[in-house]
Amino acid sequence: MSIEKSMFQYADEIGPEKIIYMHDPQTGLKGILVVDNTIRGPAIGGIRMAPDVTTDEVFRLARAMTFKNAAAEIPHGGGKGGIIGDPTAPNKYAIIRAYARAIKSITEYIPGPDMGTDERCMAIIYDEIGRACGLPRELGGIPLDEIGATGYGVACASEVACQYVQLDINGATVAIEGFGNVGKAAFRFMEEKGAKIVAVSDSKGAIYNMKGLNYEKLVKVKQATGSVKNYDDGKMIGNKELFELPVDILIPGARPDVITVENVNNVKAKLVVEAANIPATLEAERILHNRGILVVPDFIANAGGVITGAVECRHGTESEAFKVIKEKIVRNTKKVLDLSKDQGILPRTAAEKIAKERVLKAMEYRGRR
Ligand code: NAD
Repeated sequence: MSIEKSMFQYADEIGPEKIIYMHDPQTGLKGILVVDNTIRGPAIGGIRMAPDVTTDEVFRLARAMTFKNAAAEIPHGGGKGGIIGDPTAPNKYAIIRAYARAIKSITEYIPGPDMGTDERCMAIIYDEIGRACGLPRELGGIPLDEIGATGYGVACASEVACQYVQLDINGATVAIEGFGNVGKAAFRFMEEKGAKIVAVSDSKGAIYNMKGLNYEKLVKVKQATGSVKNYDDGKMIGNKELFELPVDILIPGARPDVITVENVNNVKAKLVVEAANIPATLEAERILHNRGILVVPDFIANAGGVITGAVECRHGTESEAFKVIKEKIVRNTKKVLDLSKDQGILPRTAAEKIAKERVLKAMEYRGRR
């Protein structure tokens, strides 16, 4: 396909503003940058490094960032970088530096980490071009996984959503898929709000105890044995069983497409808060909606990370990040769930509608429509 075709096939009322391809013969860099929309501010979005990254994927992720950032009400547009390459390559940092050099003049894009890149990569980019977020603490970064920013936002969204299903978070039972950065933080912050975490899983298995699980003990068991499934005070269950437990709140926090038409009718929770990206298919979300099970969509519930990135860009502190996450996620969850209720539409549709309207309105104000 010609480059023109590959750029213009995506063109619509929002973007993309630019698609840039880069090649550096010295390091072997083959890179893509999609700047989707910058009307609300410089585009923020991660750089994904994987052998099979395509323009299509990078464009879809860039558009998702445009909406996610607008939905989170941060003053940023959406963009995404892609590096076609092996993230374990011995010359990875040389490739990253070459990528940074190639995007130096695209000042309306602020890179962040994504699959295959991390804070070290961001530090190299920052060194080369003076802009990046997701930096190490030593360079003024706010380490979002360490502070549990996304899990904190998930707990804030859960607390608000509970009010829409007549559920008291204090004493509510919770099952969490995944015990990584997001799952662990969601556990801690949900517990802080009085919820009882009764099940967790990781890639090797899951554990369930209706009386509740102990966080510190789970961390120790995972460290010592490699999996939470070896926690001795509970019942070992299959990963898929976790989604079908009789709990109040279900938090998918690991893999995409784990709630599908196959298992959606077995979900017993009253509330599903999507911590992972696209954990449920659209069809499954529709069925959950029709069954009266409330879903807080991923890009509303898991925006804590990107909100922290925006705070970091303004040289804010960790405590400010927590304050802003709470303020924005509480307000946006309410807005989305109210619109969904009023118009009888899926929460995801409501969220997309709000985000898109914010972008179009901003374009109108700036005389671009
Ligand atoms: P992570 O790598 O730190 O943790 C992933 C966890 O999921 C691990 O405990 C792993 O064992 C577990 N896991 C893997 N396969 C599993 C399976 N089949 N069943 C159950 N558990 C399984 O990743 P993370 O940073 O916690 O991210 C989790 C999800 O949240 C991803 O979808 C990611 O895109 C999304 N997300 C993360 C952030 C963030 O701030 N880290 C922000 C927004 C969205």
